This record gives sequence, structure tokens and C-alpha cells, in this order.
Amino acid sequence: MKIVWVTSESTPYAKTGGLADVSAALPEALATRGHQISVILPYYAQQTGKLNLTFDGFHAMLGVPFGPETLWAQIRIKKLRENLTCYFIEFNRFFDRSTLYDWNGSEYPDNAKRFIFFSRAAMQAILALGLEPDILHLNDWHSALCSVYLKSPLYSGFPAFRNTRSVMTIHNIGYQGIYDKGNLYWTGLGWEYFNYMCLEFYDRINLLKGGILCADIVSTVSRTYAEEILSPEYGFSLDSALRHCAYRGRLRGITNGINTKEWNPATDSRLPARYSAKNLKGKAVCKAALQKRFELPERPEVPLFGILSRLAYQKGLDVFASCLEDMLYHDDFQFVLVGAGDPGLQKHFQYLASKYPQRLAVFIGYTNDIDSHLLEAGSDIFIMPSRYEPCGLNQMYSMRYGTLPLVRHTGGLADTVRNYSPDAPGKSTGFVFWDLNTESLRNTIRWAADIFRDSPSDILAMRKNAMRMDFSWDHTASLYEGLYHDAHQ
Ligand code: ADP
Repeated sequence: MKIVWVTSESTPYAKTGGLADVSAALPEALATRGHQISVILPYYAQQTGKLNLTFDGFHAMLGVPFGPETLWAQIRIKKLRENLTCYFIEFNRFFDRSTLYDWNGSEYPDNAKRFIFFSRAAMQAILALGLEPDILHLNDWHSALCSVYLKSPLYSGFPAFRNTRSVMTIHNIGYQGIYDKGNLYWTGLGWEYFNYMCLEFYDRINLLKGGILCADIVSTVSRTYAEEILSPEYGFSLDSALRHCAYRGRLRGITNGINTKEWNPATDSRLPARYSAKNLKGKAVCKAALQKRFELPERPEVPLFGILSRLAYQKGLDVFASCLEDMLYHDDFQFVLVGAGDPGLQKHFQYLASKYPQRLAVFIGYTNDIDSHLLEAGSDIFIMPSRYEPCGLNQMYSMRYGTLPLVRHTGGLADTVRNYSPDAPGKSTGFVFWDLNTESLRNTIRWAADIFRDSPSDILAMRKNAMRMDFSWDHTASLYEGLYHDAHQ
């Protein structure tokens, strides 16, 4: 199939979260299975530009209708392999910024314009490059408008789109692209698209909603999350639109995979020692290196908990913050926390790290590959107390490195982590709790630490089991193939 994948981020060109990892790995896995893949993404001058890439071609003068005028962009072309090419839309007025979406905790005021432009530019690029896709795969709100365009007279009449079906993947429904309705002006679409079955959302426009309701198939990144988002609690006011899709058999959940080449403790050159499920000796070396790197006492016997996360409300780290000091005071545990986001949480964690330097190390910011891989490898247990988690990648990275995830039972965390059972440690892969409150989280952390100290053979069995789980993209890619075929039914 000819598949065009439109995304606002992709590793290594630009990344804020899991979307970037998926937008690199899934197109690659689909290309390996023989499909013709084109990835369209913005050229972020300050992030992508820093990589000093060499390009295989340029398409100058891409005309993008935008409100009353035509803006002129450029496409930078990078061929990754015979059937996998990245097309970067370069338009510096919108994409030459110090960060991707927000600055100092506030969205850029022109984000609506930026991503309306990007969606329109993607449609224009498909025409200009003669891509003629069978599938137009859209990801999150940034590119959702493409599925509205595809159904609109602006594009539906082009022979290039005659055989095109759209797939809208929701990586996180908490971000929808909701803006003043005046922004409809920039889209080139008429007011007939401002209705409750398309872009209208409480008298504003909602780009993700339009994408969901116009796409041929909607998917999300785990099976449990696909069910959860049908409820008002998890649906962020789009639950009824999603129930509409589900009722018509158009909503699917496919659990993400991970890049098992990049995340492989047996070959990972970023680690001070390598290891595998057969021989875990190197993991102890990584633990010592992690303690040293984050200036904690090098003690092999102490349970070491890792956290690597955006400090967003979604991640439940406010609840972790509220039980952390109690544990730092009473328990002989170590914590390494790496993250950036909520300024109040950042300050609180930094304050606790200065008060308990023997037990808590904090790095606020976006860390490099070496430290994030070391954190996954060197921790004993990895904490993810998410309020909701569409899929989550870090729990899978952890398991691959024999680090046991401690997670709340939600979304992809529920689908990928098997709770510890003393009767079957060889079938367990982590620790699971249900209610997100201080007590549950603290008790689960203490429970995991008890097992770590009292039942080392169970922990070893769990580590080995976790490392043997198959999270490769190949299986996931085959499920997407089925979804693409269904989109054509
Ligand atoms: P989300 O996309 O909601 O942030 P995921 O678990 O799907 O959550 O993916 C998060 C990705 O972002 C992982 O690759 C994780 O390692 C990375 N990440 C998150 N915060 C940081 C940080 N502060 N420094 C480095 N990498 C980070």
C-alpha cells in the first residue's frame, strides 16, 4: 500500500513525547513489511536543524492556500530507504521556534494557525509530490484537519485522492486543538463545517473532533484506552463522538510496540555494561552507574525507583509528590526522577532532593539518550502512576531492561503489565494498583520494596519474564495492515 503518515513529531527530528517514538518506529516497521511510506512533518528549524541533516532533494515553492492568501513553503526530502521517505515542510514563520508547541507553560498564541497551515500544506504536498496514497494516516490534533479536507470539495475531486482512505490515530485525547471559531477562516472551509458532526465544539472549533468524525477509521494506541475513552471520565468531552464511531464499528485499539533494536540491553552501547535475560550481571553495574551519575550512595541492596516523565497532570505525579516525603523520611529507598513540566511540581521535587540528597535525585529538563537509557537499565522499579495513559512506552522500555514497572491499572499500562502474584512470579512483570490516591500509591511502593528485599528469587523470575515479553513493532504493524484494509471496505 501507499501510505502517507502525517505527524507533528518524529524521533530523532523533533520530540516531546511518545508520538515521536511511534512516528519513527511504525512507519519503519510498515516499510519493512513492503509498503511504500511517506512521512510528512514540519521542519522545525531549531530542533531538526540542529541535527545538520543532509537532504536528498528539495521541492521549492509549495503553494499553501491560507485564508485569503497563498503562503509559499519548501519541502526538504530525506530518503531513509528505498520505500521510506520523510518530507519536511519548511516554513520558518511557523516552525522556527525554541520549542514545538508552548513556551513557559503557555501555548503559542498562533498554534491554531500553525497546524491548520501544516495540515493544508500536507494535502498540498501530497498533490505536488504525486504521492496518490491508499491511506492517509493522521496523528493527533495537529494533522486531524487533513481528514476533513479529504472529504471536502477542496480535495475530494482530485484523482490523486480517488483511492485514499483516512485513518485517525489518537495518541492522547487530552490534547484536541480547541480554538476560537474565527480560525475557521484560515482553513478555507465554509461555515457548513462548523456543525456538531464536524468541527464545532461548544461554539469553538475542535480539530481533533473534526478528524475523528471525518476519518474512515479511528484508532487509539491500546485496547483498554479504546474502551476508556468512550466514558465521560476519560473521553474529555469527545466520548459521545467516539461512541458514534464505535457504534458504527469504526473505532479500534492497537497497542503500540517499541523499537526493540534501539532499546536492547544486550547491545545498548550507551550503557556501562550490557546484559540479557540469561545473564543479568550487567544490570547491577548499570545500577551502580546510575547511582553515581545522580550522586546517590552506591548501594546495591537498596531498592532504587526510577521516574522519567513529562510532569503533566495526566501522569499522576502530583499524587506521587504528596506521598514522597513520608517515604523519604521513613524508608530506606532511593528515587531518581527526571522530568519537566508543571513548575510547582518541579520546585517541590527539587526542594525534596535538597532536603534528602541521600535518597532522592532530581533532574529537571529533557535528558539525553544516555541518561534515559541508564535510568531504564539501572533502576529496580519504574513508577508510572498515570491518571490516564493511552499506551505509555516507558513501562515497555523498563520491562525490556528487566526493570519492573509499578503502574496504575489504566489504558496501555493495564494491557502491558501483569501484576505480581506470589503463586506465579514467572508470569508476573510488575506491580499494579487501581485507585489513584496517596495511600494506594505509597502502599504499592512499599509492597514492591518488601518483595525486592524479601523475595529476590521472585524478583529475578519477574525480571526474566519481563525481558522476554514481545513488544516488537512487527506484530503491531500487521494489525495496522488489517485496519488499513478495513478502511477500504
Ligand atoms: P507521553 O507521550 O505521554 O509523554 P510515553 O510513555 O508514551 O508518554 O512516552 C514518553 C517518551 O518521552 C519516552 O520515550 C520518554 O523516555 C520520553 N521522555 C519523557 N520525559 C522525558 C524527559 N524529561 N527527558 C527525556 N525523555 C523524556
